[in-house]
Amino acid sequence: MRRNIVAGNWKMNLNHPDSSRLINEINKIDVNSDVELIVAPPSVYLSTFNEIQHHFSLSAQNVHFEENGAFTGEVSAEMLSSLNVNYAIIGHSERRSMFHETDDIIFKKVKSLLKHDVSPIFCCGELQQEREEGRAFDVVSKQLNHLLTHLKEDQIRNIIIAYEPVWAIGTGLTASPEDAQNMHKHIRDSIANQFSLKTAENISILYGGSCKPDNAKDIFSQEDIDGGLIGGASLDSKSFLSIANSFS
Ligand code: PEP
Repeated sequence: MRRNIVAGNWKMNLNHPDSSRLINEINKIDVNSDVELIVAPPSVYLSTFNEIQHHFSLSAQNVHFEENGAFTGEVSAEMLSSLNVNYAIIGHSERRSMFHETDDIIFKKVKSLLKHDVSPIFCCGELQQEREEGRAFDVVSKQLNHLLTHLKEDQIRNIIIAYEPVWAIGTGLTASPEDAQNMHKHIRDSIANQFSLKTAENISILYGGSCKPDNAKDIFSQEDIDGGLIGGASLDSKSFLSIANSFS
């Protein structure tokens, strides 16, 4: 179901006391009830955070596509599901570039997550050079291709898409609201063409890439932008709250 979402990707930050402090601050945050808050802490904290009464949803930052077995250091979709973790970020550009995750690997993760009723937060986005060469739309289409051609309509409805231009992640650069809107519309149109307008209209598409309290309002006001996937600014409860309250 399409809804306004602000998701915080903590990446590999915060020791246990600092993470507890931040999660307690976030838990006190008063957010407009039509915004869903999602927190994606390092996986070691998922179980502890799950035990506290909370008004945000939990997301993993990654998952392995196999069901179980000899995959030292990995976490399966079934494990996430058994902890009531509702979401998992996959296809993040850091995992694509540093951990060599391909579109094939990422799609296997999508399938495993859907099988276990965990909704993928599927990241896509182009490199700076690809944008400069006018290939941004093609790159994102290619990243989305498996989802569009191999999923059934009722499966795509359980996916959240995060458009994250790689050159904007952690750099302080942001896509202009118009450029972000154009890409979000391209993504929504691609879903509509493959499935139906109704399904496309029901999918939340988030923007990610140096989204901050001072630019969130302009970005979130765009027609096809349903919120944000927030990195750096999600590590500060005031910034995170301010971003979450940036929908008009
Ligand atoms: C991210 O890594 O998903 C992200 C959007 O990071 P930042 O907000 O720090 O650019």
